[in-house]
Amino acid sequence: MAALIFGMFAISDYFYAGLTREFCLLSIMRTLVVASCLTLAFMIRRRGSDTRPAWLHALPLWILASGIILIVPLRPESLSTQVPAVVVATMAFYLLIPNLLPIATAASLYLGVGFLVASVMAADASAVVVMRTTLLLIMTNGVGFFTLLRLEKLQRKQFALLQEERIQNRQLVEEIAHRKSLEAQLRRIAEQDALTGLDSRGHFMTRAEALLRRSRHAEAPFCLFMVDVDHFKAINDTWGHSQGDRVLAAIAEACRRSLRPQDVIGRFGGEEFIVALPETHLKDARMVAERLRSKVRELTVMEAMPDHRLTVTIGIAEVLDEETDLDELIQRADRALYDGKHGGRNRVVVSHEVAAEVSSSSSRGSSSGSPSSF
Ligand code: GH3
Ligand code: MG
Ligand code: MG
Repeated sequence: MAALIFGMFAISDYFYAGLTREFCLLSIMRTLVVASCLTLAFMIRRRGSDTRPAWLHALPLWILASGIILIVPLRPESLSTQVPAVVVATMAFYLLIPNLLPIATAASLYLGVGFLVASVMAADASAVVVMRTTLLLIMTNGVGFFTLLRLEKLQRKQFALLQEERIQNRQLVEEIAHRKSLEAQLRRIAEQDALTGLDSRGHFMTRAEALLRRSRHAEAPFCLFMVDVDHFKAINDTWGHSQGDRVLAAIAEACRRSLRPQDVIGRFGGEEFIVALPETHLKDARMVAERLRSKVRELTVMEAMPDHRLTVTIGIAEVLDEETDLDELIQRADRALYDGKHGGRNRVVVSHEVAAEVSSSSSRGSSSGSPSSF
């Protein structure tokens, strides 16, 4: 831009010098300055905003400064009008070349000193004019230098703040990710049984409540199993607790495989599991329970106990009416299970009690139930 403006001054050259030898020299000089400045600008643009090499950024300033200085011997009579041009160029050097204070300072000093020397040698400037121009250039350089210095300081401060903000943002993102993973871990601990990977009792209750509500709303059937491993204490006592744990995990896996994805299964406690079967009629639930019972029987969990057949007793309860809630269902299934244990274990027992009867009786150990085994 500066070079193009410099080139446009050829019009004033024509008015000052007319079509003379000086005008030709001035025009050639201006053309050379414009051409080389534009070439350098193009080169700098291609290299990107990187300030290296610094000399490449300094060169256009020196060329432009040389052009301005050369006007003095070629057009000495217009010295007074050239002073403001030098002042403007000096300010432009400082303000338009960011972050290169030494380069802008060197080019401005070169322009100022060169202009003063040219004024004395080629334009016979008087001592007063030289002194006035010197003071003006000192003032311009001072203002330009300190303005750029302050700008650079502010920019550095701003950059440091930006960096700090970036670091803090990164730390915040890491902290959020860490908290999220902790949250997920906590949720997993709360919702999942560590040994079997099934839903914990609390989580099962929440999910089963939701399923029951939905079934009630859709007037769809709903069944619930209580599954208890038979003579599990004996397994622990004979083969140890770690074998017992392995058996529990294997039975949990067998339960999971026998059920549909929409069924919810949880570890109710110890060696007891609980299953909610939404949209399932009693006869289908019975079929699923029988399938589960045979699956468990087929399990060969450990080399240490190859001949031992694992068995489970399952108690089933079905939603009878709109009033049936989850606790009542569990109580009924539990009672059916209890009766299954008394009936000899390794069986599926269905509770046929009505809701009213059950709610008035205690859970396990009560003799008021009338489950049927088959
Ligand atoms: P029943 O056929 O009447 O159900 O008899 P059982 O032996 O299975 O029932 P009981 O309630 O007498 O014993 C359950 C045992 O399960 C007692 C307890 O030590 C064991 N148990 C509970 N939780 C775990 C566990 O996480 N791992 C292991 N290895 N054993 C457990
Ligand atoms: Mg038990
Ligand atoms: Mg048991």
